[in-house]
Amino acid sequence: MIYLDNAATTRMAPELVEAMLPYFTEHFGNASSIYALGSASKKAVNAARRTIAESIGAKMEEIYFTAGGSEADNWALKAVAEAYEGKGRHIITSKIEHHAILHTCEYLQKRGFDVTYLDVDETGLISVEALKAAIRPDTILISIMFANNEIGTIEPIAEIGAIAKERGILFHTDAVQAFGQLPIDVEELRIDLLSASAHKLNGPKGIGFLYVRNGLKLRSFIHGGAQERSKRAGTENVPAIVGFGKAVERAMLMMEEKTQKELKLRDYLMKRLEEEVPYAFVNGHRQKRLPNNVNISFRFIEGESLLIMLDMKGICASSGSACTSGSLDPSHVLLAIGLKHEEAHGSLRLTLSEENTMEEMDVVVEAVKEIVDKLRAMSPLYEDFVKKQGK
Ligand SMILES: *Cc1c(COP(=O)(O)O)cnc(C)c1O
Repeated sequence: MIYLDNAATTRMAPELVEAMLPYFTEHFGNASSIYALGSASKKAVNAARRTIAESIGAKMEEIYFTAGGSEADNWALKAVAEAYEGKGRHIITSKIEHHAILHTCEYLQKRGFDVTYLDVDETGLISVEALKAAIRPDTILISIMFANNEIGTIEPIAEIGAIAKERGILFHTDAVQAFGQLPIDVEELRIDLLSASAHKLNGPKGIGFLYVRNGLKLRSFIHGGAQERSKRAGTENVPAIVGFGKAVERAMLMMEEKTQKELKLRDYLMKRLEEEVPYAFVNGHRQKRLPNNVNISFRFIEGESLLIMLDMKGICASSGSACTSGSLDPSHVLLAIGLKHEEAHGSLRLTLSEENTMEEMDVVVEAVKEIVDKLRAMSPLYEDFVKKQGK
C-alpha cells in the first residue's frame, strides 16, 4: 500500500501507541481524584499540556483539550460570538475554510450574526487589502485558516494578526494542517485563538486543543465538572492526551528533517505529473505551500474514478469531491480558486509523509499516467476535444 492521504489522517507512530498503553491499564486513574493513582493521570495531562503550550509559545493555562479540531473550531467561534456580541455581531472568515468553520458560521448567521466570507485569488491566498476593507466597527472576530487542507496554501497569518491587533479584533486560526508541519509562535503572529488536532501529526484521533489567549472572555463549551478550568467538562481522555503530547514532542524534533524529505518528494512528484500528463495543472500556491501537499487537476476525467482505480493499485489518495465523502459536490476550495466544476471534479490530492520514498513517487506517476489515459479514452468530452484540436 502507498499511503498519500496524510491530510485526511496519519498513521500513529508506534512509540506513541507505546506511551499511551499504560494509561489504559495500570495508570487508569481519574485525573480529578486526589489519591496517587489519580494524581499520576493529572501529572501526565499537565506534562502534555506543557509540551503543547511550549510548542506554540503559549502558557499552559492557555491550552484547553478538546475532542479534535472540529470541536476546537466550533468552540472558538461560538464562544467568541456569545461572549462578545455586546460589542458587535460581525465575523470575517474566508471561502476556503474547513467545514468545521464554514458550517459553524452558517449556524451563527441563523442566530443573527453577520459573516463576511473573503474571496481568495487563484493560488488560494486571501487579500490583506480586502480583509482591511471588510472590517467594520462591529467586527468581533477574524477566523482565517493557517494552511488549507486541500491545496496546501499557507495564508499570510502574521499580517492578519497584525491587522487584527491594530484594530482590536480577535484573531482565530484553524491550524489543524499547519500544526506540527510549520513553526508557529502565537506571540509573534499575534494569534488569540488557535485550533489543532492530534491525528494530523501521527497522534491519536479524537483529541485536539484550543489555545485561548489569557484575558479573553471565554464561555464554557461543555457544562459539568471542573475539568479544563471548568470550560470544557468531562473526564479527561488521559491516554489520548498523553499520545498527543508525545506526538507534539516528536513533530517538533523532526520538523526540519521531515520538511526537507517531503519537499524533495513533493517537488519531484508535482513536476513529473505536470510535465508527463497532458492537460494537467497544479492547484494552490507554488511557494506558500505545505511541504507535503500536491494538488493537481486533470482535464476530461472524474476524480472519483481516478481514486477508485488508484485504490485498486493500492494507492490511497483524495480528490476534489471526496473531501465531504459520499457527496459529489465539487470542492468549495477548488471552486473558490476559480476552477470550473468539471476541473474541480478532475482533481487529485496527494499528501505525503516523511515515510514515503522516491520509488513510491515513481510508482504513483506511472499509475496516474496509465489511469488518466484509460479514463480519457472512455471520455466523450476528451474525444470531442481531440477532434477539435485536429482541425
Ligand atoms: C482535519 C481538519 C479539521 C478537523 O479536525 P478533526 O480532528 O478531524 O475534527 C479541521 N480543520 C482542518 C483544516 C482540518 O484539516
